[in-house]
Amino acid sequence: MYDVIISGAGPAGSMTAYICAKAGLDVLLLDKATFPREIPCGGGISVRSEKVLRLAGIELPANQIEQELRSLQFMGPDQKPFVFRSSKPLGYTVKRSQFDHYLVKQAINVGAQFVDSCTLQQLESHKDRVTVETERGVFESHLLIGADGVTSTVGRLSGLRKPLNPDRVGVALEVDVPISPSLWNSVLDPSIVYFWFLNIPFGYFWVFPRKDSLSLGVGGMAKQLENVPKLLRGLARTFTTRHGLPPFSIPKIRGRMLLALEYPVLETTNRILLVGDAAGLIDIFTGQGICYALESGFLASKTVIKAVKNNRITKKMLSEYTWNARRCFGEEIRISRTVNNLVHRHLHGFFQVARRLDCIGKVLFDIILGKTDYYRIRRNLLVFAMRLFTFELQNRLLTL
Ligand SMILES: Cc1cc2nc3c(=O)[nH]c(=O)nc-3n(C[C@H](O)[C@H](O)[C@H](O)COP(=O)(O)OP(=O)(O)OC[C@H]3O[C@@H](n4cnc5c(N)ncnc54)[C@H](O)[C@@H]3O)c2cc1C
Repeated sequence: MYDVIISGAGPAGSMTAYICAKAGLDVLLLDKATFPREIPCGGGISVRSEKVLRLAGIELPANQIEQELRSLQFMGPDQKPFVFRSSKPLGYTVKRSQFDHYLVKQAINVGAQFVDSCTLQQLESHKDRVTVETERGVFESHLLIGADGVTSTVGRLSGLRKPLNPDRVGVALEVDVPISPSLWNSVLDPSIVYFWFLNIPFGYFWVFPRKDSLSLGVGGMAKQLENVPKLLRGLARTFTTRHGLPPFSIPKIRGRMLLALEYPVLETTNRILLVGDAAGLIDIFTGQGICYALESGFLASKTVIKAVKNNRITKKMLSEYTWNARRCFGEEIRISRTVNNLVHRHLHGFFQVARRLDCIGKVLFDIILGKTDYYRIRRNLLVFAMRLFTFELQNRLLTL
């Protein structure tokens, strides 16, 4: 009988396991994959993520960092790029296989039991415990945390997640292309992340620099994207030509679903709660999911520890997580969806204005650095919307 079983050992699950085990709880962390495992991801982690790790007591060692990121290059449909530069680091790139494995090892070091190659298949919630059936046996615990990603089995079996509306599902594909490190600085600046919004419906093309490779990817709304691998190959070719890079062959393209739920699922049952992608915690505009995975794991574990130590495992007690998570990032995620809609519906206007309006860059940096308060975003949104309106009005008058 464990205090808590955590299904899924991505950043959300490992963070939860680490804090709970460190507080003396009996923790079982399980994952269907065999670790270290690959996962399609740009591997961009913001300074905000690093802050959460530090708050939990986990250092991000230098050998995990591939590149330090300081600038964001944007390009809109007019194909005129512009760069927002930050005087401070905005984040880093990591290799997800190594980063996720490192976090699992931190949880093991403080006493969590880890079982990989162990898919959770069924669960049953009783009055006094939860039983989970896996391919490696049956386990029981007081509490169960679903940290099992976008397709969350725990979310589905517990009834916390409703069936997906295909109109609201995003998809992202990524490919890791090896390049010679000698190209850094001579041809490409390794501190720049590229975001190209080239008529990709509700999505974009990105390039993240790593030590000896580039992570190239495309994300957008699944229903509106056609033949994404072909789109990704075409954009990769454009990128190489534009930057005078030697042509490279594209290895295997990997992809995953991204949830774009109306609202994140932060509600709980009396014994089960969801964290990270399982709870739909993704900023659909910047593509950031790792920091919300870490933050939700952090908040969930605080509630779980309190519930177990006070022997008060009730829905009311677990709702503390719901409230804290809503306060910390629920509103932000909601706003990111509004921003995403606004930007993609007025892509031309957005790029005309963003190029001239410093506050857009500042707000973006604040989101990435975790310094934002959403009132400020809202205030700037209003300024931005007014500029956008004036711009579109001018354009219409000119065409009359
Ligand atoms: C192509 C792509 C690029 C991305 N790039 C970035 C980026 O650059 N920066 C960023 O911040 N975010 C990025 N994201 C989002 C980010 O990857 C996720 O938000 C993040 O991985 C969420 O972490 P998690 O721990 O919630 O889930 P995951 O990392 O998905 O981990 C879930 C774990 O659960 C396991 N699992 C699943 N089902 C079961 C089961 N039934 N039983 C047991 N285990 C199970 C899986 O094996 C997996 O290890 C990207 C997403 C995609 C698709």
